[in-house]
Amino acid sequence: MQIVLIGIQGSGKGELIKNLSKIKDFTYVSVGALFRQEIAKKTALGKFVEPIMARGDLPDLQTTMKVVNKAIKKSKGDLVFDGFPRTTEQADALDKICKIDKAIYLKLNKSVAKKRLLNRLTCVNCQHITSKNEIKNLICPVCGGKLATRHDDTPASIDQRFKVFEEVTMPLIARYKKQGVLCQVDASKTIQEVFEEVLKVLNVCNN
Ligand code: AMP
Repeated sequence: MQIVLIGIQGSGKGELIKNLSKIKDFTYVSVGALFRQEIAKKTALGKFVEPIMARGDLPDLQTTMKVVNKAIKKSKGDLVFDGFPRTTEQADALDKICKIDKAIYLKLNKSVAKKRLLNRLTCVNCQHITSKNEIKNLICPVCGGKLATRHDDTPASIDQRFKVFEEVTMPLIARYKKQGVLCQVDASKTIQEVFEEVLKVLNVCNN
């Protein structure tokens, strides 16, 4: 099964993946995380995408497909794409390499999403996500690494990412609805409620 997760930044895609990974052995392809790994390793691709990501924009199609194709080649079995595709041209490129069975749209309004992002801390080592009011120090409860605010979780970058989402990613909702694979989930609910809702739609998908 091939699934795409679509949702504004802060809609809980990462948390959902964490929960899904406990029940099924999917291969997760998160383009943002793959880019962050390239940046951490200081590769040429990482150096190229770093300033683009920091201002909240999207690197070009060719660069994006480089990391996606590499991840697909290494994958086994079912795939979940996190934050990919984000543009119509990415969706066209994906259609050429695999058939999408479900597109899960985590619907959330911008003000709730922004509050979540400004409160978010991410482990620089394992990318575990937590929030500022849940922890007492900046040590990752999973791996002991350092928790920090992501470079692109600044008010200006968040606003730009929301703008990009509305302008270039939202059209994908209509596209996947037309294809009959769209499942919409209310992402303002708790992490557990969203997870349970997604489990339901993974069996029945008709909204
Ligand atoms: P995320 O981790 O999904 O919040 O993504 C962080 C950043 O990574 C985005 O703001 C983009 O700069 C980049 N990125 C993530 N997914 C994509 C994608 N599908 N296409 C292009 N850039 C992406």
